[in-house]
Amino acid sequence: MLKAVKDMILILDPKVAAGGETYNQLMAHLSRLPNIELRIHHEQGAEKSVTEIYLIGNTAALSVEDMRALPGVDHVVRVSEEYRVVGRHKGDERSTSFEYKGVSFGQDTLNVFAGLCAVDTPEHVGQMMRALRDHGQACTRMGAYKPRTSPYSFQGHGAKCLPYVFDLAGKYDIKVIAMEVTHESHIEEIRAALEATGSPVGVMLQIGTRNTQNFELLKFVGRQREFPVLLKRGFGITLDESLNAAEYLASEGNRKVVFGLRGMKTSIGDPHRNFVDFAHVPVVKRLTRMPVCIDPSHSVGQRAYAPDRLLDILHVTAQGVIAGANMILVDFHPDPSRALVDGPQALTLRELPHFLEDVALVRETYEKRVRLAARAAERRDEPVEVKV
Ligand code: PEP
Ligand code: MN
Repeated sequence: MLKAVKDMILILDPKVAAGGETYNQLMAHLSRLPNIELRIHHEQGAEKSVTEIYLIGNTAALSVEDMRALPGVDHVVRVSEEYRVVGRHKGDERSTSFEYKGVSFGQDTLNVFAGLCAVDTPEHVGQMMRALRDHGQACTRMGAYKPRTSPYSFQGHGAKCLPYVFDLAGKYDIKVIAMEVTHESHIEEIRAALEATGSPVGVMLQIGTRNTQNFELLKFVGRQREFPVLLKRGFGITLDESLNAAEYLASEGNRKVVFGLRGMKTSIGDPHRNFVDFAHVPVVKRLTRMPVCIDPSHSVGQRAYAPDRLLDILHVTAQGVIAGANMILVDFHPDPSRALVDGPQALTLRELPHFLEDVALVRETYEKRVRLAARAAERRDEPVEVKV
């Protein structure tokens, strides 16, 4: 079989401004290349802006050296057709992180998003957020639009709860809320509610496991660049198919994508709700530049204790964190017996400090493991780099 023709990305010198002379000359030159389509992506970062020019098509005839020598080009990456934008390619120095509302999301950081699976009352939202603030947390999860198996189950309060959720987030210094959307109209509702409340908080749009391959929703969410996205892995499709779903978002323009593991639907995982797939944390980090989130609550789905007095949810969280997870999405509730969705898997506010301390312990050990691996590679005189 013929090997897929590889595309190329030219990453411009940050000093080269779009519309300037060097830029225009470069674009004029590139647009004369035969059988090559150009796609331009500008990304405004916190410190610098990056312009990438994708050369798509017959790039086999072009040499990396010639392209690198063009005025205005900083470096050149040849990319495989797979995951052109979110992928990690050979010699790829592109960033693996992004900032949103002062919070850094990357393959080297860890953020906890503890919160309500579904918003029920302003009291519970307030109690949850106050506990998070009191324990130094700046992020949370709050479900307003709930995809449910049965049409008769509570579907979430939708747009009507957004004003109090956003107001309370402002009150308790919450910076980012992860919130699932199941339809493009939800993004308009979120935008309108943020505007009406004076934008006291940021929203990370969550695409749930049932919508991982809802391509029209992916395209719509990918075309907006205001909100970052948490894309959950599809519950019954291959990892490759789910990573392609992330590529849908990024190829439409939104690069601020976190990839979420939440377990796979199969009876092989019994008695857990889903078969825990956190062994894929390092795999996703190797194949792509996306930060990786784990959702221990929807993976395990129950509050069962092991004989060591640790909840399965804590064990599974630790498995993801020890493997380098960058975000934890986890269900808490001030009164799980009154939760309208997924009460049986919620942790309580009294368990929050224990949970956070356990996560910190494991994270510290993960960081030590990374330093140990770097020292070991140095002793073997191997370059410390990701092999792709
Ligand atoms: C959720 O996080 O609330 C949720 C419904 O998760 P998933 O899409 O992974 O089932
Ligand atoms: Mn849930």
